[in-house]
Amino acid sequence: MTAHHENPSTPLTLDFARELDLADPLAAHRSAFIGSDDPGVRAYLDGNSLGRPLAASAARIAEFITEQWGGRLIRGWDEGWLEMPAAIGDELGRVAVGAAPGQTTIGDSTTVLLYKLCRAAVAGAVSADAARTEIVVDTENFPTDRFVLEGIADECGMTLRWITPDPAAGVTVDDLAAVLGPKTALVVLSHVAYRSGYLADMPALTAAAHDAGALILWDLCHSAGSVPVELDASGADLAVGCTYKYLNGGPGSPAFAYVRAEHQPHLRQPIQGWLGTADPFGMGEGYQPAAGIRSFTSGTPPILGMLALQDMIALIGEASIEAVRAKSVALTDYAVALYDGVLAPLGVELSSPRDAAWRGGHITIDHPSFREATAKLWGEGVIPDFRNPNGIRLGLSPLSTSFSEVWLGIDAIRAELPN
Ligand SMILES: *Cc1c(COP(=O)(O)O)cnc(C)c1O
Repeated sequence: MTAHHENPSTPLTLDFARELDLADPLAAHRSAFIGSDDPGVRAYLDGNSLGRPLAASAARIAEFITEQWGGRLIRGWDEGWLEMPAAIGDELGRVAVGAAPGQTTIGDSTTVLLYKLCRAAVAGAVSADAARTEIVVDTENFPTDRFVLEGIADECGMTLRWITPDPAAGVTVDDLAAVLGPKTALVVLSHVAYRSGYLADMPALTAAAHDAGALILWDLCHSAGSVPVELDASGADLAVGCTYKYLNGGPGSPAFAYVRAEHQPHLRQPIQGWLGTADPFGMGEGYQPAAGIRSFTSGTPPILGMLALQDMIALIGEASIEAVRAKSVALTDYAVALYDGVLAPLGVELSSPRDAAWRGGHITIDHPSFREATAKLWGEGVIPDFRNPNGIRLGLSPLSTSFSEVWLGIDAIRAELPN
């Protein structure tokens, strides 16, 4: 994976990057994002941590405050606000994650939804078969996923079975098969690894978990909105994902949860609140969960937080997730070609898969100087992400990132390297 591999066919000039922009069928969408013409930001390469806002979202939020909140007041809940989490979830399912209606909802943070869904899955698995006492997770998964599962293991007397994948790649079917067995209750994996960008084989890994009689939860934080996801078709049981990364919902916008229809009647989530009950306004005694996905709601949904992501879902629907993925592959292929031509000769390592079929929308490159370099780059309006200990992560949000930005970013990184 780290062997140098030349791409002699890709010219290393800024002119060539401009030609790629001229030939890009999605290029026109870039101007729909606020800040895309800001001369102070020469290259925004962190759209996988916080996507740029759409101009349409500024208008939607202003309209909501004056007309809906200001105009409708408490009546708004009866006039549609209460239906928004499931309605936006259905649209996200249709446009980007391959989920038929009634299985996806917008709710709490990713961390809280992970807890609710994993806790429900573990309780369901153990009550069906008390011998299922293990949760499988990998050491390269995002910290919050690992920490939530450590807490659930403590709480429920379960054991974590760790997979240790190649850090520059991710979890393979063989890695998973080696730890699965009659004790496995739940498997938790990321679809796109947050560091390496490795794109996991969702259908094959899901099938392996099912063959062992286990449930699987997919974390889609780094794939939703950039990689087509087929939750229904792949047989996935559960999924969660962020909306502030490739779905451009804004800082702290609420996450989404997917619960396969067949599991909904059997899984009980642990944060039993009034808005997840069959009759919230009956104000009755004793928790009676709602039928369907609403039972995974706990309290009052964060309506203001779920306004902006609707505009990005609409834009992805207009462009199509397949076209978004095609541009994503072109952007990361181009970044790898520039890496080969410009950064590899200066001792930078590529810590992401070379083959686009195994790669999501970002790449990570490593060099001991990158912590200092990132601070300087931010000061110059070139904004990648730094990941401990030596990694620069280039997050290339397909609808808002140009090939010229990739060129400027790599060139600025080159200029910071010791020769
Ligand atoms: C970004 C990210 C999270 C973040 O969780 P929050 O609760 O939104 O802070 C979780 N998991 C993965 C894989 C992520 O990339």
